[in-house]
Amino acid sequence: MSFDSHPFVPPLTRSGMIAVNPASEELFARVFCRLKLESRVPRFRVAFRPFAGLRSSIALRDGRADVRLADVLKDAPPLVVEALAEILLARAHGRRPSREARECYLAHVSKPEIRRRIHRARRTRGRDHLLPPKGLHFDLAAIFRRVNLQFFRNQLPAARIGWSPKPLRSVYGHYDPSRKMITISRSLDSADVPERIVEFMVFHEMLHMRFPVERRGARRVIHSKRFREAEARFPEFNSIRKALRGLLD
Ligand SMILES: [Zn+2]
Repeated sequence: MSFDSHPFVPPLTRSGMIAVNPASEELFARVFCRLKLESRVPRFRVAFRPFAGLRSSIALRDGRADVRLADVLKDAPPLVVEALAEILLARAHGRRPSREARECYLAHVSKPEIRRRIHRARRTRGRDHLLPPKGLHFDLAAIFRRVNLQFFRNQLPAARIGWSPKPLRSVYGHYDPSRKMITISRSLDSADVPERIVEFMVFHEMLHMRFPVERRGARRVIHSKRFREAEARFPEFNSIRKALRGLLD
């Protein structure tokens, strides 16, 4: 039984920008000429961004064109990027993109593999946004400090901690080692939830900082034996676990 989840997401750059892509910039300029939109070709800057989903956009001003492409399209074939370039450029000029372009783009993004990737991006990136630790009823930063002092002799390094923007589904917490970030489900920030329970969830996620994932052959052991032993030393562990299970049901 687990009250939390542990996905491994690829790290992003701090600004959220993935990379600028010169080949795509040429491609956009080429499509711009082919569509005969204006006599002067703007300077294109194309970047992939970790949008949660598929939104791509273009902003044209002062001879410059800033293009943001959803990074789920990062390894899309040039033909698909070209189709998307036509769609974005035509729309920005109040024109209708050709049916070929629309169909080509649509065929690509409806592929099961791409749908899966979009779904995954939505799920994991939602977690990048944390609400501040001070909630309506509990202050997670204060709890983190208290738990660190009481159970870890103040030895754990600082981590980002906050509430999830929406109640997490079927779990109460989450630790992301690549971002050193603890998320506690907003559903626990309630007058009906005893503070002990929130403390325990913060403690549980902090144990993930203390005992990182172990490898046993090809298997990843997230809650190792040492982890479970340390966890069971939390005061009233059994009754808290029962209460959490009750909340999940
Ligand atoms: Zn856990």
